[in-house]
Amino acid sequence: MSKAEVTNLFKKVRAQKRAVLTEVEAKQVLSVYWIPITKGLLVTKKEDAIKAAQKIGFPLVMKVVSPDIIHKTEAGAVAVGLKTIEEVLQAFETLQKNARAYKKGAKIHGVLIQEMASGREIIMGSTKDAQFGPTIMFGIGGVLVEVMRDVAFRVVPISKFDAAEMIHEVKGYKILQGVRGQKPISENAILTILLKVSQLISENPQIKELDINPLFVNEKEAKAADARIILE
Ligand code: ADP
Ligand code: MG
Repeated sequence: MSKAEVTNLFKKVRAQKRAVLTEVEAKQVLSVYWIPITKGLLVTKKEDAIKAAQKIGFPLVMKVVSPDIIHKTEAGAVAVGLKTIEEVLQAFETLQKNARAYKKGAKIHGVLIQEMASGREIIMGSTKDAQFGPTIMFGIGGVLVEVMRDVAFRVVPISKFDAAEMIHEVKGYKILQGVRGQKPISENAILTILLKVSQLISENPQIKELDINPLFVNEKEAKAADARIILE
C-alpha cells in the first residue's frame, strides 16, 4: 500500500458508513509508515486456515476480523498460543461462533492467522485534544496502564528528544530496563515507532483516534500485535 492508497482506504471505510477500521485495515496503514506489525494471513475457509497456519508457524494467534466487533477479547474472538492444526480448526469454528453470539448478524471478513509475538507489552495511541489538537500517548501495557494510568502525552508532531523523554518519564520505565535479571528491551525500537506514529497522525487529520495495544517489544525489535483506527 502507498500513502495515496491510505486515503482511498479511508474513503472506502467511510462509504461503508463505518468509522472504525478493522485490525487488518489499521495495520495496513501502520505498514505504510514502516511501523512493524505481526505477520498475519486472513482466511475464510478451513483449508486455507491450515495452509496459513503452516506458513505462519506455531505457536500462533487467531482472531475474528469483523467491522462490527471492536473489542475482540470481549467477544471471545481471540485465541492465543495455538500449537496444533487441530487447535486451529477448533478455533476457526469457535471464534466465529462466539463472534456471532456476541453480535447478531455481525459481518465477518474472515479469521486472521497471526504470528505470536513475545516480549513486554507496551501501548501507543493518539486522540485529539479540544485545545491542543492531535496528541500522542505512550505507556507500558497491562495494569500499569489500566489501573495506574501510567502514561506520557505530547502534542504531535514530536521530536526525537520528545520521544526519548516520553519513554523515560513513565514510572514503569524500570520494567523496560528489565527487572530480576531480564534483558533490557530495545528503547530505540520504541523511539523509532513513536516518531512514525507521530508522522502518521500529523499527515492524516482524518484520524480521530489511534490505538496500538499491545505493541510487543523485546531486546531487538518491537511489533504491533493489535491496532485500531477511528476516523472523524
Ligand atoms: P482486543 O480487540 O481485545 O484488544 P487483541 O488483538 O489486542 O484484541 O488481543 C487481545 C490480547 O491477546 C492482547 O492484549 C495480547 O495480550 C494478546 N495478543 C493478541 N495478539 C497477539 C500476538 N500476535 N502475539 C501475542 N499475543 C497477542
Ligand atoms: Mg488490543
